[in-house]
Formats: sequence, structure tokens, C-alpha cells
Amino acid sequence: MAGQKKQKKLPQFGKQPPQYRFFLNPYQDVRFTNCPQCGQKMRQRKLPLMVHIDPMYLLSLNKTCRYCPHCDLLIAHQDDIEGFLTSYFAAHQPEVVGNDYLVLGTQERVAWKRGKEQPLTMEETLESLHDFKDVVKFELVGGWG
Ligand SMILES: [Zn+2]
Repeated sequence: MAGQKKQKKLPQFGKQPPQYRFFLNPYQDVRFTNCPQCGQKMRQRKLPLMVHIDPMYLLSLNKTCRYCPHCDLLIAHQDDIEGFLTSYFAAHQPEVVGNDYLVLGTQERVAWKRGKEQPLTMEETLESLHDFKDVVKFELVGGWG
């Protein structure tokens, strides 16, 4: 049903050990209640996702993602993330709306909480960042009806 494609491996940014295989879901009408890899029911996991936005912004979003413990696969929805980025930057820095972005990894929850009270330095941010182990892509093959 789903074809899997590997993307180019990225350099590691974060100081924490890499976690999760990550898929950014571009399909608004496919919500992956079941894992695209093994077919088992996916769980939900809420965690801070670290996003890099061109040219040089880092933002961490506390998002509910889908997670398959069997495959160690984490799925976030692209429209969800873009919706947040759009409203955030429209309010703070409208010229950034629509810029390219990249979900780098997940942030340690304690650091995320601290950062809500007082912005972290770039170094603190990278120290609390877990890169993804791998970024994967699932493509629709022949359509899902
Ligand atoms: Zn799975």
C-alpha cells in the first residue's frame, strides 16, 4: 500500500542522542490511525518538536503526534505545523510567513518548559535537542481510495 522512500541524511545539530524515525505527513485526508509501516494501531504522543525556519529561527512546538512503538515511527501532520507557524509569524514577524522550514527533532520537555518562561540561548537549545534518527517518507502508491 505505502511505498517508503528515504531522504538524504542530515547533519546532526542536537547534543542529545537522536530519537525516533520521523515522517511529516503531507496528506490532509490521511491521518494514520494505523501505522503505514506495520499496520498496527498508532498511539498518541505529545512532545515538543523543534522547527528551523529560514533564514534563522528556531521554534519549539508542543504537538500531539502519532507514534508506533513497534517501528519507532513518529508522525506529525504538515498542515498542523504550518497552521501554527503561519499564525505565530503572522503575529510576530509577518515577513517570515511562507519561508522554508524543517522539523529538526524533539526537545527535552524540561528545557521546553524553561524556554516558555525565558527564551533559551542557541547553545541551550541545541543542548536540549534530539535529532531524528531518520527522516522517512511514505508515498501513496495507487491511491488509498
Ligand atoms: Zn509500525
